[in-house]
Amino acid sequence: MSVTALIADVAVNAPLRTLYSYRVPESLAAVAEVGVRVLVPFGRRTIVGVVVRRYQGDDTDLKEVRECLDDVPLLDAQLLRTLRWAADYYHYPLGQVIKNALPGGLMKATKRTAIATEKQYCRINPERLPAGKRQQQILSWIEAQGGADATQIRSEFPAPTTVLNRLVELGCLELGEKERLRDPFLAEPLPADTDLILNDSQNHALVQVTEQISSGQFHSFLLQGVTGSGKTEVYLRAVAECLQQGRQALILVPEISLTPQLVSRFRARFEPLGEQIATLHSGLSAGERYDAWRSIVRGDVNIVIGARSAVFAPLPRPGLIIVDEEHDTSYKQGEGFRYHARDLALVRGRQQQCPVVLGSATPSMATSYRCEQGKCTLLSLPDRVHAGALPTVELVDLRTEPLRGLLAESLIEAINLVLEQRRQVLLLLNRRGFAPYLLCTDCGTSFHCPNCEITLTYHQRQRRLICHYCDYHDQIPERCPACQGEGIFPQGAGTERLEEELTELFPHARIARMDRDTTRTKGSHQKIVKGMMEEQVDILVGTQMIAKGHDFPKVALVGVLGADSLLNLPDFRSAERSFALLTQVAGRAGRATGGGRVFIQTFHPEHAALTCAAAQDVDAFYQHELPFRRELGYPPCGHLVNLIFSGNTADQVNNAALRFGRRLLTLAEEVEILGPSPCPLTRLRGKYRYQILLKSSTRPPLRDLLVNMEAVVAELPRQVAIHIDIDPLDMF
Ligand code: ADP
Ligand code: ZN
Repeated sequence: MSVTALIADVAVNAPLRTLYSYRVPESLAAVAEVGVRVLVPFGRRTIVGVVVRRYQGDDTDLKEVRECLDDVPLLDAQLLRTLRWAADYYHYPLGQVIKNALPGGLMKATKRTAIATEKQYCRINPERLPAGKRQQQILSWIEAQGGADATQIRSEFPAPTTVLNRLVELGCLELGEKERLRDPFLAEPLPADTDLILNDSQNHALVQVTEQISSGQFHSFLLQGVTGSGKTEVYLRAVAECLQQGRQALILVPEISLTPQLVSRFRARFEPLGEQIATLHSGLSAGERYDAWRSIVRGDVNIVIGARSAVFAPLPRPGLIIVDEEHDTSYKQGEGFRYHARDLALVRGRQQQCPVVLGSATPSMATSYRCEQGKCTLLSLPDRVHAGALPTVELVDLRTEPLRGLLAESLIEAINLVLEQRRQVLLLLNRRGFAPYLLCTDCGTSFHCPNCEITLTYHQRQRRLICHYCDYHDQIPERCPACQGEGIFPQGAGTERLEEELTELFPHARIARMDRDTTRTKGSHQKIVKGMMEEQVDILVGTQMIAKGHDFPKVALVGVLGADSLLNLPDFRSAERSFALLTQVAGRAGRATGGGRVFIQTFHPEHAALTCAAAQDVDAFYQHELPFRRELGYPPCGHLVNLIFSGNTADQVNNAALRFGRRLLTLAEEVEILGPSPCPLTRLRGKYRYQILLKSSTRPPLRDLLVNMEAVVAELPRQVAIHIDIDPLDMF
């Protein structure tokens, strides 16, 4: 006998594309609203899900919702609509899309073990050192965080509860109540705001954006201008306008820890007006993120600044979305739910009827193409606000000019000159560590990661060989394991080696290094930036990190090493990326005073990515690159989907991919099927990987194929996993 009862459709945290229905018991009817997290029985387990629909219906055979985990919905109907769109577009289960959107740890059914409560906080006891390698790993990670709660630790290290308990028993970890640390970005003293009059281009841009804010309509803009052309000032004014209209603003940045200056300018402008700013970033604990989320849901916060996942910030009435440095590849999530935050920002803007402003000095091909097609309005800020002329760029031809160590003679001379003038130097080498590999010069043995198809990077400071993909590490061998020879030498160069060489070349210079190794601990990045700002550093060496976010007014010279290895990556976007990175880093020279110089060392001085970067000419690069893309049907002139197959044995994966490819041939219409072929990184974290690339000039045939493909996916052998990457950004 069926009865009519209250039913909830729940998106569960499991890799399943269907929603599951549960009966809502009387006692929970008032709280189990759409957007609330619930505990539900699932097979023999209890898991977390989110209610996405509620209705009266037939409850025959339905199980019951066990518990509601929130007193207010975490997602409103509008945001849920965006998440559903994303689940559909990226072919990813809605429950796991929601998991990515919510602050970390909220979709786990936490069993309450000794240390699993969110309140209990783990700190290192420096007097007790553990024995095991894994224990050490966990401890040094906690130490780098300055302490962490169990949820955070678990999200970093899968299922370590027993390991953690053991560490507590051993006295290496101490538990305590968490002190509420203030958000490091919000704890800094407020800088003074400046009152200024917009120039004509800024005014023009602001008027156009403001019109769309007022009319409450979706429209997308590209705000294009070099660093220092006044983009941030336009953002600030547009946000003020948006608040005036009673709506809220969302600002996305590539990596918030690298852009403290942007955050403090927003604070300086809006805090005196009584506005609160919420920042969403990885430095927050799980609890702090949950708190921030709830205050945004309640409408207590009108300005949210955050990285990639902040595109899902639950602002009830967004009136403006800004994506700063829209070309930055960190907007695309590389694993799991492989969404692109810039693309989703555009979708969200369309769904919620608000303008979206994409800002960049070096826009992506994708965005420039949208402008060309009239789907996006170009607003350009052609000049630097503070007259400073653009730097002069010299391409150092390594075919004719010899190197002394890692640097060309002319660059060494230029550095000496700048040091004499007491100004600063930036040197970019986009590879961390001392050397990319170690080689036995007697027998030719090199050292590879046992889990990945890649050489181990030699890190001198840490005295270790490290895999940059899976973090495997090993001791530095004294003898070659193959021939017992002692002639083992590091080959090639990373930032550590460059730093060492500079110390010898310029013994009186104060040298700092900025890369992932030197910025691991809290506050270390800010410390380096501060050192530069206060002129305690003469030469800053670093990876692409030094090209981001900050404004170093005293830099008079920028040098780029290893530009060629950027150009030679096996990816059709390598030229686009190199151009963007080189143009960005070149733009750091002579910010305040003008007359900056840039040296790019290369064997390919005729390469368009280099000549256009040297001319700081974004349009020329676009015009040069587009025909190649068009010819090959690559984005932005066509659409790609990458299917990645992975498993424990090469044959099994290869065979499964071959069979899959043959089946696809019978299903595909107007879709080109390329492969299968081994992924450029054939083995990664112990898994063998093959890929099939799907290409089409329009999206609908790709969509149809993905839908029809479901049956073929179901036939894959259990041992082979498939990952679907829609609009892939890199093909590794
Ligand atoms: P971007 O975001 O493009 O790098 P900013 O908005 O940060 O540029 O502007 C660069 C500098 O110029 C900042 O110090 C800013 O305060 C200042 N500035 C911006 N617009 C103006 C203006 N119209 N008049 C005077 N100074 C300005
Ligand atoms: Zn590895």
